[in-house]
Amino acid sequence: MIIILLGPPGAGKGTQSKTLAKRINLPHISTGDILRQNVAEITVLGKKAKDFMDKGLLVPDELVTSMLIERFKQPDVQKGFILDGYPRNLAQAKKLEEILKTRNVQVDLVVYLDTSPHVVIQRLGGRLVCKSCSANFHTKNMPPKVSGKCDNCGGLLYQRSDDNEETIKKRLSVYKDEVRDLIRYYQQNNKLQRVLADDDAPIVLEKIVKLAQKSDDSIKVG
Ligand code: AMP
Repeated sequence: MIIILLGPPGAGKGTQSKTLAKRINLPHISTGDILRQNVAEITVLGKKAKDFMDKGLLVPDELVTSMLIERFKQPDVQKGFILDGYPRNLAQAKKLEEILKTRNVQVDLVVYLDTSPHVVIQRLGGRLVCKSCSANFHTKNMPPKVSGKCDNCGGLLYQRSDDNEETIKKRLSVYKDEVRDLIRYYQQNNKLQRVLADDDAPIVLEKIVKLAQKSDDSIKVG
């Protein structure tokens, strides 16, 4: 099964994808996480992507797409996956369809996490990310048990460099420009389901799990 989570920065795509991945036993692929890992390891891709990411701009399509094609070669994705952060625009959506067609599979479900602007700003302002396993926490909504440490693996928590007010504004405006076309595209393909995502993470997760089960009743929910 192939599921895409769409939504503005701060909609909870990362948090939801990670927990959904555990519940339905599929790998989670986050283009943002892979890019940040490349930036941290100062790879060729990381060097090319860093400037765009720091400015809140999209990394050029061809860089992200070839990175994704590499990820799709890994054995764990053969039974399906949850995609978070890709596609970001219509060109990427069409490219994804093309790539999946060569593997005789298609996107089964696209969940749009509909989130109010004030919730987005509040979530991004306090977001903390684990350096080791990239789990997300929040200073108010979901504080870690021990300050500065990840509940799951004990890794160091940090604030993303693009989670500052100026870059958040830019990322939201980039998102608004691109998302309308994407929503229309997946609506026309009868794949899109909207979920109101202002609620707390566990409530939103149950709504997504129900949609996944409805879309494929053979999936096993843990
Ligand atoms: P995210 O973790 O999804 O919020 O992504 C963080 C940053 O990584 C974005 O602001 C972009 O600079 C870059 N990025 C992630 N996914 C993509 C994508 N599919 N296309 C282009 N840039 C991306």
